[in-house]
Amino acid sequence: MSECTDIYTIAAQRLTEYMKGKNIRKTPERFEILRIVCQTPGIFSIDELHEIMEQKAKFQVSRVTLFNTMKLLEDAKLIIKHTLARAAHYECCINPHPLVCMVCQKCGMVRKLESSKIENWLSEQKCKQFIITQPVLYFHGLCRSCMVKSSIKKRSRVKSEK
Ligand SMILES: [Zn+2]
Repeated sequence: MSECTDIYTIAAQRLTEYMKGKNIRKTPERFEILRIVCQTPGIFSIDELHEIMEQKAKFQVSRVTLFNTMKLLEDAKLIIKHTLARAAHYECCINPHPLVCMVCQKCGMVRKLESSKIENWLSEQKCKQFIITQPVLYFHGLCRSCMVKSSIKKRSRVKSEK
């Protein structure tokens, strides 16, 4: 069994139990969305998920269904929602691990930072009075392309002022 199938099996079991407890109807769409979420590495926006579902998984789903299902998966604690400047981003959290993200304040780009040192440091932060459930660290700033764009704007402003 691959790791993806493994995660999906656990997630589907948890979702089934959660919906049973809340008397929510089990629909094939919800489980298909969960399957794609489990297979999608890292963080993604609703738009990106929508594209993956339609292009890679060949699964037609409305954005409303996608939004509602993401809310359900969030309530069932199967995904975490990163609320960032522009759009919400989601991530499967069956096996939560420390995460470091760079967030562009201008375009909203979100990129994971590969930093085992920070991840190790985060994993060592154990506090008896506090349980970390969402080990995420955000660095807000400007991405390269926004930096270039803003320096071009500044230069043209300086030129026009002369
Ligand atoms: Zn940017």
